[in-house]
Amino acid sequence: MLELKHLKKYYKVGETTTKALDDVSVSFRNQEFVAILGPSGSGKTTMLNMIGGLDRYDSGNLVIEGKSTDDFKDSDWDAYRNNSVGFIFQSYNIIGHLSIIDNVEMGMTLSGMSGEEKKRRAKDALIRVGLEKHMNKRPNQLSGGQMQRVAIARAIANDPEILLADEPTGALDSETSDEIMQLIKELSKERLVVMVTHNPELARQYADRIIEFADGKIQTDSNPYNGHDEVTNFKLKHTKMSYWTALKLSFKNIMTKKGRTFLTVFASSIGIISIAIVLALSNGFQKQIDQTQSDTMASMPVSIGAVASDSSAAMTDSQNSSFSKHKYVEADLSKSDKAQHVNKIDSKYLDYVKKMPKKYTKNIAVTYSTGMNLISQKDGKWQTVKFSNADPDAKTVDTSSMMASVTGVGGSVYPIDRDGNQSFLKKNYHVLSGSYPKKATDVVLIADRDNKISISALKNFGITAKTNQKFDYNQLIGKTAKLVTNNTYYKKLPTGNYVPSDRYASMANAKDTKTLKVVGILRVKSKNSDGLLSNGIAYSDQLTKSVYEDNKDSDIVKAQAASKKNIMTGETMDASTKNQMLTMLGGSETPSTIQIYPSNFKKKDRVLDYLDKYNDGKKKADQIVYTDMAGSISKLTGGMMDAITYVLVAFTGISLVTSMIMIAIITYTSVIERTKEIGVLKALGARKKDITRVFDAETAILGIGSGLFGIVVAWLCTFPINVVLEKMTGLSGVSQLNPVHAILLVIVSAVLTILGGHIPARMAAKKDAAIALRTE
Ligand code: ADP
Ligand code: MG
Repeated sequence: MLELKHLKKYYKVGETTTKALDDVSVSFRNQEFVAILGPSGSGKTTMLNMIGGLDRYDSGNLVIEGKSTDDFKDSDWDAYRNNSVGFIFQSYNIIGHLSIIDNVEMGMTLSGMSGEEKKRRAKDALIRVGLEKHMNKRPNQLSGGQMQRVAIARAIANDPEILLADEPTGALDSETSDEIMQLIKELSKERLVVMVTHNPELARQYADRIIEFADGKIQTDSNPYNGHDEVTNFKLKHTKMSYWTALKLSFKNIMTKKGRTFLTVFASSIGIISIAIVLALSNGFQKQIDQTQSDTMASMPVSIGAVASDSSAAMTDSQNSSFSKHKYVEADLSKSDKAQHVNKIDSKYLDYVKKMPKKYTKNIAVTYSTGMNLISQKDGKWQTVKFSNADPDAKTVDTSSMMASVTGVGGSVYPIDRDGNQSFLKKNYHVLSGSYPKKATDVVLIADRDNKISISALKNFGITAKTNQKFDYNQLIGKTAKLVTNNTYYKKLPTGNYVPSDRYASMANAKDTKTLKVVGILRVKSKNSDGLLSNGIAYSDQLTKSVYEDNKDSDIVKAQAASKKNIMTGETMDASTKNQMLTMLGGSETPSTIQIYPSNFKKKDRVLDYLDKYNDGKKKADQIVYTDMAGSISKLTGGMMDAITYVLVAFTGISLVTSMIMIAIITYTSVIERTKEIGVLKALGARKKDITRVFDAETAILGIGSGLFGIVVAWLCTFPINVVLEKMTGLSGVSQLNPVHAILLVIVSAVLTILGGHIPARMAAKKDAAIALRTE
């Protein structure tokens, strides 16, 4: 059955060589009880380990059922130990954190036996060793004799052909020793039992054959065997521990040291907690910024006005580090003047803007600085608005007051979507009373956050208000003013000059007069969009366009276009004043401002690209400079947020590495502590891989545990942080833990700790089983 041929095992420690096995040749029968006697250090345990495949011989051969083992691979030895050999040790080597039944099942667990079969066999083995009453106890609740019975049950549960016992009664009193010996004697009737003992009496009383050992050599053999086995069809069933088993094993081990585990998990979760909080904060801030961006900035137009400030021009100043040596001073444009860029907005440019792909923009508002001739009724009398102080029959009119009167409606222009929707107003303003405008002649009053409405705006509707005078909403809703065309409004004097007519009543009823009506009072929704429209009248850009259409071919415009003089005052004018005059009378088709509302925040970049393309290859003077307020704000805040987040994450990341090292140390300690267990598992047939798996599983549990713990703590922290931040900054809900971040962090924690624990886990796997079992 088992044959040792010239087996040698030498241990070299420094200069001295110990011949633990020195050319041992012996054969064993399939069924006999062999006792090995000998003084301490004579090589008995070494031989047992060779037979059991726990240790490798240096030379010679071990023949099992006629099969040589000199070509055995690790996996073959693992399988051999699992299938064919049962070990019993002096110090029992029961795994303390497993239940008795789990201990007995372990060998079968490693060979992948099914749960029911395993349980049945384990119970049978425990009944056989007389422990049926104690099956549900924990190892530390048993006496020494009972522990050894558990060890015996574990050794025979898989029904091995060979039972190896190394001083099984060495730690037991004589009475218990006898019981154990009787049990082993009985087991030897079915198999080969090789038992090491230093008690010659026990050996003589129970064994069939006594081999005496000294100095690594067999001295005497009471019943030698010289038969040889035929080469049989000896097959090994290879073992494999499942990941699940590894996890269960580790979990049970972890549960025996809850306090330490909790501290480990807590300490290593600190890195996760800090990163999670940093991410939660930056996530929350980013959300706030995004909110602001979509709330306000997307509704801030890219605007092109008559003058723009060209930031690049302002920068190129004062780069000279030396001082001037001139004895005189020079006149020059001021910095801000230099930065001023005059945009020559003409119909060509307008066409270019209007050809912009439709999907980029929600709407494009083109404002003409054309004046509006408004009249309204006060106390039943029609009157013009701004001219109330001026003498209507005056022959001459002061140009500046004239200009003020024609331009001054005191309102702002809001854009209407291409499809006629009021998305701009609806997004930024809510209705205090009345409704949103529905047609071009509907106007709204814009109140600021304090519900104030400008006095001059009210004048347009014939309301002379004093400061702080209160109005009910319904005093203002439905108010009207008449918008009169130039031809109706101005009359030609015999001198050829034009003056406003005073026949207001007939103006009001003229066929081409439009009625503007206040349909709603609106107030800004959030302070972010405060000031988008000034507090007063707001009307659509369609209205300004229709005013231009009505007046561009009027008599006064034609006359002014043909004359060098001011057609109203008769004064001579320079070209630019004439231009202004024409514009105000509605005779200039160049818009004063173009406001482009991108369809969303991202599309704005497309809009800017499109506008930039117009300037390509143009002289500086011909270029059109736009203003993108939203862009400069968001670039600043967005970039800063990212930078801060990166820095903080990098800092807190260091604590993650600390956690990783800590887990490595903990695992290392665990490996040291569980050396015996590793030996036992190996004796039961565990592969190196299985051992690695057990410890990897342990670190995975710790890693995932600390990740989850950290996330929960961080999540709990967001609540007090939000309360504090809200008190400090007024911003609510700033820290928000993104679930994706949470999941990622748990994964990162698990991966890092597994990495950190993997090296000690490998170390554990490499542990020599024989040495591991010798450690006390
Ligand atoms: P026994 O079991 O008969 O007491 P062992 O088989 O344990 O003896 O040891 C035989 C000899 O081999 C002893 O001298 C022991 O010191 C030595 N020995 C055993 N294992 C090792 C080892 N791993 N390294 C060095 N020497 C060892
Ligand atoms: Mg020994």
